[in-house]
Amino acid sequence: MRTLILSDIHANHEALEAVLAAAGSWDACACLGDWVGYGASPAAVLAWAQAASVFAIRGNHDRACATGDGIEFFTPDAARSAYWTHAQLSASDLGWLAALPSGPQTWNGLHLAHGSPLDEDQYVLAFETATAIFAATTAPVQWIGHTHLQGGFVLSGGVIENIAIAAAGPTTLPLSPSARYLLNPGSVGQPRDGDPRAAFAVVSGGAVTFHRAAYDIAAAQAAILAAGLPPRLAHRLRSGT
Ligand code: ZN
Repeated sequence: MRTLILSDIHANHEALEAVLAAAGSWDACACLGDWVGYGASPAAVLAWAQAASVFAIRGNHDRACATGDGIEFFTPDAARSAYWTHAQLSASDLGWLAALPSGPQTWNGLHLAHGSPLDEDQYVLAFETATAIFAATTAPVQWIGHTHLQGGFVLSGGVIENIAIAAAGPTTLPLSPSARYLLNPGSVGQPRDGDPRAAFAVVSGGAVTFHRAAYDIAAAQAAILAAGLPPRLAHRLRSGT
């Protein structure tokens, strides 16, 4: 059983195509939300989401783009992108987004959330936040997105540590039955960990492998600029920030 875990695609169809090509065959796929927002290809990404057999939950951008809920907390660039995205999508696509379940969800034995299992808008960046989540939950392995940072946290022997991701290539993490994990596959469409390549993860045989895939960043940037979206949303793709 090979399960592909995606998150934060953010309407970047070029990055999604590269991830699917790099991932090869898979038996199941889950996406942790933020299908749209920021990027210029929301309809193309949603066409794939609806055609492929993907278990989908919503992110804060999906909620804001579909219903406006939470848009008041967005940065000006994110809000502008959300209004643009809303205007681009068909009523059917907006309905699909609005109907996505919020996390946490359990699917195929995997525990999935957008921000954190406690709050879909929560950024799990600090050890204190990870500590609170481990204390309030029981699942051994929990998947989260939202920060656009690949890796996450491991709790072992009462100590919490960051999961180290190798810069050069795939990082395989064997899952220990005596440890607990908060795992983030990273962002497909807008990485923010300084590596501009699209990020994803694969669960297989009791281990998780964190992958990166190079994609046509120039094409994604050109589409953002051609759409009249904020130029910073194009520029940040090159730096991965
Ligand atoms: Zn996001």
